[in-house]
Amino acid sequence: MIDAHAHLTHDVELPLALLERAKDAGVVGIINVCTGTDDLMRGLSLAKTCHAPKIYTVAAQTPHDALHEDEEFFRAVEEHAQSLVAIGEIGLDYHYDFAPKDKQKALFVRYLKLASTLKLPVVIHCREAFYDLADIIDATAPELKVMLHCFTGTLEEAKEAVRRGWYVSMSGIVTFPKSTSLQDVARFVPDDNLLIETDSPYLAPQGHRGKTNEPAFLGATAKFVANLRGVPVESLVEITTRNVKRLFHGVS
Ligand SMILES: [Zn+2]
Repeated sequence: MIDAHAHLTHDVELPLALLERAKDAGVVGIINVCTGTDDLMRGLSLAKTCHAPKIYTVAAQTPHDALHEDEEFFRAVEEHAQSLVAIGEIGLDYHYDFAPKDKQKALFVRYLKLASTLKLPVVIHCREAFYDLADIIDATAPELKVMLHCFTGTLEEAKEAVRRGWYVSMSGIVTFPKSTSLQDVARFVPDDNLLIETDSPYLAPQGHRGKTNEPAFLGATAKFVANLRGVPVESLVEITTRNVKRLFHGVS
């Protein structure tokens, strides 16, 4: 299986044992999301040196950091675009509200335009901002392939996303006993739109809660979602792997 969203290189130290454990758990690929220049440099060199699991790189400035646009990082993303499988994570976060909405929107539009120019898909971070976010994508770059990473929205929002052909990604949050409405979403999303991810090091799934999350824990989410959908875990892994390859640029 492929972990559709993780942060491996946020920290300077990447424990190699973590990649070994991922491999042992059947993770053959990891989409590594880089949110700053140093993170991107570490990510690109990891992608070059690590082949099992294969590491694919995604980069952009997050809405959390939208208060100050990072010009150096924007240029680095442009410069290394040919080594990226997507632009992200970008979007809007009205839950934490670390930056004013207009700043978040401006940064979001800037990266959407970049993705459109580069013909790369986008990885979206959205918290309590779905309709603003959908309006902006519709108006700016409706042709883009879109992944809603770590989806925590409503069933109505999931339907709107699917109607647009977007991908809806389930993280470990879906495994929490309280996540009943998200579990309805996980039952609803059609095979062609479904992804699974860890978003590690955050959000360890049930059974691993309290620990630092890592790609090796993806199986817990895969099993849980397969159960919800009444399918064998093997077929869940097959459809989500196929979707990762269809969505991301150059992942095979
Ligand atoms: Zn993330």
